[in-house]
Amino acid sequence: MAVPQNKITKSRRNMRRAHDALTPGNPAECPNCGELKRPHHVCGACGHYAEREVVAQAAEVDLDDDAA
Ligand SMILES: [Zn+2]
Repeated sequence: MAVPQNKITKSRRNMRRAHDALTPGNPAECPNCGELKRPHHVCGACGHYAEREVVAQAAEVDLDDDAA
């Protein structure tokens, strides 16, 4: 198994990791429901895209009533 010839110091390790941070997304507000959504993606909350419904949303199901 290959083994590193020299120890990577905490300083060099941390300098490498200085560039590892994730950048935040660029969420846009849904024009239908106002929920934050990814740009150019269907809204996960209401299923709308370009101000029309493209994914039908299931009706609310109350699990407590059905379980009895
Ligand atoms: Zn929406």
